[in-house]
Amino acid sequence: MLEIKNIYFTYPAGVQQDYTLADITIDIGKGEFIGIFGPNGSGKSTLLKIVSGLIKPQKGVVNLLGTGLNNLKKQEIAARIAFVPQASATIFPYTLYEIIAMGRTPYLGIMGFETREDHEKIQNALDMLELSHIASKGINEVSGGEAQRAFIARALVQEPEIILLDEPNSHLDIKHQISIYQLLRKLNTEMDITILAVSHDLNLSANFCRRGILMDHGQIVHDDSIRNILTEDNIKKVFEIDSEVTLRSDENMSIVIKP
Ligand code: ADP
Ligand code: MG
Repeated sequence: MLEIKNIYFTYPAGVQQDYTLADITIDIGKGEFIGIFGPNGSGKSTLLKIVSGLIKPQKGVVNLLGTGLNNLKKQEIAARIAFVPQASATIFPYTLYEIIAMGRTPYLGIMGFETREDHEKIQNALDMLELSHIASKGINEVSGGEAQRAFIARALVQEPEIILLDEPNSHLDIKHQISIYQLLRKLNTEMDITILAVSHDLNLSANFCRRGILMDHGQIVHDDSIRNILTEDNIKKVFEIDSEVTLRSDENMSIVIKP
């Protein structure tokens, strides 16, 4: 469903000598749940921005259901791919409701008005992410975790086939970290939505993702089943830390970092 082929990307000259991303190729099938891991600066966010069409690679293509992103309109991409950005991005002080409503843009009529159905979908997403009570607050007046949940709600109302998430749990409390991943699993198993989630939470990812991609210095180091990715050797090699990985059952894996 999503074909990422021989991507090379570098930010404008003077900032970076080498490619930020070099020769990235990933084939993603419908209904996959993929975790992307790697140290700071390894290119994870850049990759998600390319896959969501926000930035264009210098070489290579991203094909969505056989059509290059270059040949699709912004709204056509948005109806299929939702991107939940890293929470640090500062934006105009919209209310949470307004931010979530933006997710409906690809579906609005030529007048650009939301219908009752749109409002119901927005309300439904507010409820699912426990944001109804603060829907009219500005994005800059809520906690980092609440803002993060608003961006996830925006992705839901987009009704995409693919959701890309950039460290969705970095600001969330433990309860919401788990509930977001449970929500993603539900979307994945019940609606066959394809999920790509960058995260530094190896434990959470280990128990929700089925496939993992390990990045380092702008390249893919490994792409395999999640249990073949999150091994003590790989964690040592890429993150330079010692760990102890225990497989408790088919579904349950635990990673303990050894300081
Ligand atoms: P990650 O998400 O894995 O931490 P990024 O994709 O954000 O990594 O960054 C990869 C590299 O590109 C880093 O060296 C970073 O400094 C650089 N970079 C990221 N964004 C920009 C930008 N807008 N302009 C120039 N360089 C950037
Ligand atoms: Mg990043």
